[in-house]
Amino acid sequence: MEGRIVLSEEDIRRRLRELGEAITRDYRGKDLVMVGVLKGAFVFLADLVREVDLPLEVDFVAVSSYGADTVTSGVVRIIKDVDLDISGRHVLLVEDIVDTGLTLRYLMDLLRAREPASLEVCALLNKPAARKVEVEVKYCGFEIPPLFVVGYGLDCAERFRHLPYVKVLESGDAEDALSGENGKEGIGGR
Ligand code: 5GP
Repeated sequence: MEGRIVLSEEDIRRRLRELGEAITRDYRGKDLVMVGVLKGAFVFLADLVREVDLPLEVDFVAVSSYGADTVTSGVVRIIKDVDLDISGRHVLLVEDIVDTGLTLRYLMDLLRAREPASLEVCALLNKPAARKVEVEVKYCGFEIPPLFVVGYGLDCAERFRHLPYVKVLESGDAEDALSGENGKEGIGGR
């Protein structure tokens, strides 16, 4: 089921090249750590680091999911912290999508307390219309309207992460995903 494709593989590839160039330019000569937010950012981060022409290190954080809904409860909990010491280093937090901004706000506060030399955000997708708290997204792939999307790392009940493109979730998709055994975990897992 293809649904409505919002971003094609080619759209994503082209934009990632531009983001990689901007990051390469801005972080030249700096000690860069790129921190992906699991699980949603795993595909984006994997492709993005290959567009950055600099020495860098990669780490991950994981945060709790919303529970069984496609809208945020606002409750964010860390499941996996960074392994690297980020103090005095230039940290770029890599997110799949910024919606209400609550996840990012929580993670920024958490990482800022470790006193990195700098802390910025790179997000593949941004839904500014859904924002509840202000967060600055320095590197943004695409702005999209407040629709629930899947693919390219983004899931619905753990499905669709493997799709090479981003599409709008349609009602039939959600039913298919929730009828599977992973569906018990609910929509919107990270
Ligand atoms: P925020 O805290 O900004 O509301 O939510 C960010 C997280 O919510 C994302 O990392 C992602 O896991 C989830 N999320 C927000 N919007 C979408 C969406 O359209 N599709 C999917 N699959 N996840 C979303």
